[in-house]
Amino acid sequence: MYDPLVDKDIGQGANYPSSYWAAQTKNSAGTGAIVADQSTDIVVIGAGYTGLSCAYQLAKRFNRDVTILEAHQTGWGCSGRNAGFVLRGTGRLGLAQLTKRFGLDTAQLFHQEYGAAIEQVKQMIAEGDIACDIQPEGYLKVAHNATIAAELPAQAAFLQRQFGYQAEYLSAAQLKNDYMHNPHAYGAVRFPDCFGVNPLTLAQGYAAMAQQSGAKLYTGSPLLSWQRGTDGSFLLQTPQARLRCKQLVLATNGYTPKCLYPPLNRACLPVLSSIIVTQPLTAEQLEQSGLHHTQLVMDTRALKYYYRKLPDNRILFGGRSAVYGKDAEKAVYPARLLSALKTCFPVLAQLGCEYHWSGWVAVSYDDLPRVCEAEPGLFYAGGYCGSGLSFSTLAGVRLAELTMGIKVPPLPIYQNRLPPFPLPAFRRLGQLAYYQWGRVKDRFL
Ligand SMILES: Cc1cc2nc3c(=O)[nH]c(=O)nc-3n(C[C@H](O)[C@H](O)[C@H](O)COP(=O)(O)OP(=O)(O)OC[C@H]3O[C@@H](n4cnc5c(N)ncnc54)[C@H](O)[C@@H]3O)c2cc1C
Repeated sequence: MYDPLVDKDIGQGANYPSSYWAAQTKNSAGTGAIVADQSTDIVVIGAGYTGLSCAYQLAKRFNRDVTILEAHQTGWGCSGRNAGFVLRGTGRLGLAQLTKRFGLDTAQLFHQEYGAAIEQVKQMIAEGDIACDIQPEGYLKVAHNATIAAELPAQAAFLQRQFGYQAEYLSAAQLKNDYMHNPHAYGAVRFPDCFGVNPLTLAQGYAAMAQQSGAKLYTGSPLLSWQRGTDGSFLLQTPQARLRCKQLVLATNGYTPKCLYPPLNRACLPVLSSIIVTQPLTAEQLEQSGLHHTQLVMDTRALKYYYRKLPDNRILFGGRSAVYGKDAEKAVYPARLLSALKTCFPVLAQLGCEYHWSGWVAVSYDDLPRVCEAEPGLFYAGGYCGSGLSFSTLAGVRLAELTMGIKVPPLPIYQNRLPPFPLPAFRRLGQLAYYQWGRVKDRFL
């Protein structure tokens, strides 16, 4: 599998991974590679949610001449591979941590922005009439031990009191009664406004909206290199064509190749997240596991597991994977996830796995993303730390606004660039150490 910290370039025109989403989703016809030289106002690199949402805004709202270049297929990166959890938030800091770091006023602004992100996704789905199998609302943050469970009532009360957010505390007994027969679930906080989607259909819907608004989308068209003209414009090189533009948006996130824009690559740690999808559960298995609902679930481990029931009664179950791309397809990783699923739900001991795939999430050094003008005329958004479905959609809006010189909300994540990792060459060693620590913490602490 392509590894952004190892491979020189990202390749060209690969098919979707053999995911459940790719199997479920009618493949929208590829738009084809760019083969003739062109000039355009603005070029967006990457056809994930960030790039597509940005291009849609640029074309529809600001009437700009915009071209999207995607190395492979629409939604080929994280946007077509994720778990489809439309969550409230991004990065790795909750509102309590944001309050500690930036103060309550700023944390409240974050909260509003995260709500706006969910609304933006809903609005795009409605506007584009995107049939992305919405599963109705709720996300359960489930405590994996009694110590963490004891903190949950205060966490829910804090969200209600300081943010007016209707988070709901659920005891272990309520969880068992209403949501799951999981002996490792000690209590939960329920976030009422999150929901599930088919992520690949969503990306394809965004692409259709961007194109219908006048954006040109070229798949199979990697940006190989770029340079500045004497007037500050950008000259872009793809395998078969050159483009000239005044502004450039990098929406390549965790898939950013090593040499494309080194300050961005050095500021992200691409981390593999893996998903398995099981056989459909029988009515008896659904009853016995308590999984008769469509809540999104994630636990509180350092090395988190997340799961949901899909519309055809399969379980999607995800978590950490290999560290290096070359190891991503090894059988040990889906086996580990299936075993973790069965530890959570012993009644599913006979369940088999039918799909497995992985993708690169971009972890930032300070656990927060950035949306910024990195240097004159060059913009990027990234570093969502594995929680980017809703936020990337809004990040596209904010990116488009930045290119137009429009003021965006005064949040720290819009005010500067992603901080580089110190000693970036050792990022993977740091990740391995974190995994060791996480294993110990999750088992014993
Ligand atoms: C397994 C997994 C599960 C996840 N689950 C969730 C979830 O449930 N909820 C959630 O909120 N988040 C989730 N995420 C994270 C979420 O999917 C991402 O944050 C989000 O999709 C990022 O979108 P993006 O457009 O910024 O990047 P991407 O979707 O990764 O798009 C980047 C694109 O850039 C292209 N590209 C890179 N380099 C070039 C180049 N040189 N030329 C042209 N194109 C290039 C790539 O091919 C890629 O298509 C998950 C991620 C993974 C991997």
